[in-house]
Formats: sequence, C-alpha cells, structure tokens
Amino acid sequence: MKLILLGAPGAGKGTQAEVICEHLQIPAISTGNMIREALKNGTEMGLKAKSYMESGALVPDDVVIGIIKERLAKEDCQKGFILDGFPRTVPQAEALDAMGVEIDKVIDIEVADEKIEQRLSGRRVCEKCGASYHVDFKPSKVSGVCDKCGGATVVRKDDEPATVRDRLKTYHAQTEPLKEYYAKTGKLVIVEGQEEVADTTRLTLAAVEG
Ligand code: AMP
Repeated sequence: MKLILLGAPGAGKGTQAEVICEHLQIPAISTGNMIREALKNGTEMGLKAKSYMESGALVPDDVVIGIIKERLAKEDCQKGFILDGFPRTVPQAEALDAMGVEIDKVIDIEVADEKIEQRLSGRRVCEKCGASYHVDFKPSKVSGVCDKCGGATVVRKDDEPATVRDRLKTYHAQTEPLKEYYAKTGKLVIVEGQEEVADTTRLTLAAVEG
C-alpha cells in the first residue's frame, strides 16, 4: 500500500506513520527526518537546507524531490510506503505523479492551530535516532532519555513558538492546497486528530483499512 500522510506540523503524522509502518510492515519515509540526518552529517544538501528549516520555511522543491526520488527507488519501497511530510507543495505532488507513483490513499490528520502550538511546545525528539516524544502525551520512560536508543531528548530548534507560528503560516499557504489536489482524485480521507493519541491511531488505522 502506498500512503501519504498530510497535516500541519505537529498534527501527529510522525506518530501515526510509525504505527502504520508496524501494522503494514512498510517503511515510513519522513523527509524532515532525512533532512535533519543530512544536517547532522554535514552533507552539502543538509547545509543547503539548514537556513530554510530553522526559519520555518520549506526547503526548495528540487532538493526534496531529489531526496524522495532516490529513496523511493530503493528495494524496501517496492511493496509500499508511507510518506510523512512529503509532498508539501503542489509542485511536489505533481513531481510524485510524474514519477509514476500510484498512491492508494492520502490521510489528512486535522488539528486546530491553537492545539498545535500547545502540542509542539511539549514535543521532544531524540538527538540520536529522531524518535519523538511529548512531555504530557507521550513521555519517555525516563525524562530526557530516549526509550529506543538511550540518546538525549531535546526541543527541536524549529519547535520554538515563533518558528512554529511561521511553520503554520507556511503550512496554510503551501501545503493545505494539497487537500483539494487529492480530494479531486477521490483518495483523500480526513481524520480528526483526537485528544488521546490512541484514539487518533484507531481512526487512522480504520482509514487505512476502510
Ligand atoms: P518535519 O519534520 O516534517 O516537520 O520537517 C521539518 C522541516 O524540514 C520543515 O519545516 C521544512 O523546512 C523541511 N521539510 C521537510 N519535508 C519537506 C518537504 N516535503 N518540502 C520542503 N521542506 C520540507
């Protein structure tokens, strides 16, 4: 199954991508994680992406499209995949179509902006493996320590309140039009993000299977 997860930053796409990945045994592909990894490794692409990312803007389409093209060509994607954070603009969606990728479903997780601002302020990510936590909703077993790899969990630079507001602006201007793009193909399913992560997960899995 080939899936896209749409939604504002902080809507819970990453968490749901992990659940679907376990459930269907297909890779979850996060362009955000791939860019952060490149940045950590000091690659040319990572350095190019740095200033955009840190200001809450999108990295240029050609850079992200290149990353995805390479990733989707790998063996583990042949049975299916979940895209988390791609596409984020209409030209990116068009590029995916032009690659001949046939998407089965696009799941849009909807959460109000005020809720997102509140949620992102509590988000923590592991410096080492990128696993995501929340101080209230999904705390790590030991505060500040990743359950998966023992790395330190920290506030992402772009989760600071002023940057979050810019990311939401970017989302509404550039990513939200994708809802209409995919509604036209009949593949869009809307999931209302719930207070409890487990409830959103139940609705997301029902959307995947329905
Ligand atoms: P995320 O972890 O998905 O919130 O992504 C973090 C940041 O990476 C975004 O704010 C963008 O700067 C960049 N990014 C991730 N995915 C994309 C994309 N598909 N297009 C452009 N920029 C992206």
